Amino acid sequence: MENVKPENIHFNEKGLIPAIVQDARSGEILMMAWMNKESLQKTLEARETWFYSRSRQKLWHKGEESGHIQHIERLYIDCDEDTIVAQVLPEGPACHTGNCTCFFRGIEGFTNQETKGTLSILHALSEEIKDRKKNPQPKSYTNYLLAEGSDKIDKKIGEEASEVIIADQHKDKKEITSESCDLLYHLFVLWENAGIDLYDIMAEMERRDEVKGNKKTVGHLDKTF
Ligand code: AMP
Ligand code: ZN
Ligand code: ZN
Ligand code: ZN
Repeated sequence: MENVKPENIHFNEKGLIPAIVQDARSGEILMMAWMNKESLQKTLEARETWFYSRSRQKLWHKGEESGHIQHIERLYIDCDEDTIVAQVLPEGPACHTGNCTCFFRGIEGFTNQETKGTLSILHALSEEIKDRKKNPQPKSYTNYLLAEGSDKIDKKIGEEASEVIIADQHKDKKEITSESCDLLYHLFVLWENAGIDLYDIMAEMERRDEVKGNKKTVGHLDKTF
């Protein structure tokens, strides 16, 4: 990947650059804040986010009061070097309201809470299953599966995989979609039961992801894009 030297980063007329903070694992956009030259320097040295607070007119180490430090995983700069994306592993919520992300509200008419339609729903599912394990609930099917253990879960995977196959034979898109959801859910439960994190799976997928020049190939697929 092409990299830009820190000294080539452009600050605006006020000496600031916007920094978008993103969860390095889920991809969720967490917050946006401003950096000046000094806070960028601190960010690079400490590998933790440092901003410039315009309201307080001083350097601001994210988490200095809340403890919710953001550890830098990767830093990106945009095409004209005037916007930063910081991918971080956060120690807690990014927002001072206690919300994980500052972007916890939609804009009327343009946001439907029910249909996210993004990959982050898989992250949410993984978190929910982990939460069930920590805080078991009496009528939870997930807790039932986790209590029964491998034999039960493995049998369900077999059943759900067969149902996907049958649905595919029916050439019924609705049925394939529904059965695929069942299979994925049970696969997530299997991972939890086996002590495997969704991120272990993603890391392995990334390992298989070979970058050749500008061509990107995923795993052993020969499709390039
Ligand atoms: P913290 O850096 O989390 O210890 O928070 C210190 C102070 O910074 C808070 O009291 C807020 O005034 C402000 N602050 C924290 N997080 C944010 C944020 N995501 N956006 C804007 N201001 C924030
Ligand atoms: Zn730009
Ligand atoms: Zn906020
Ligand atoms: Zn099913």
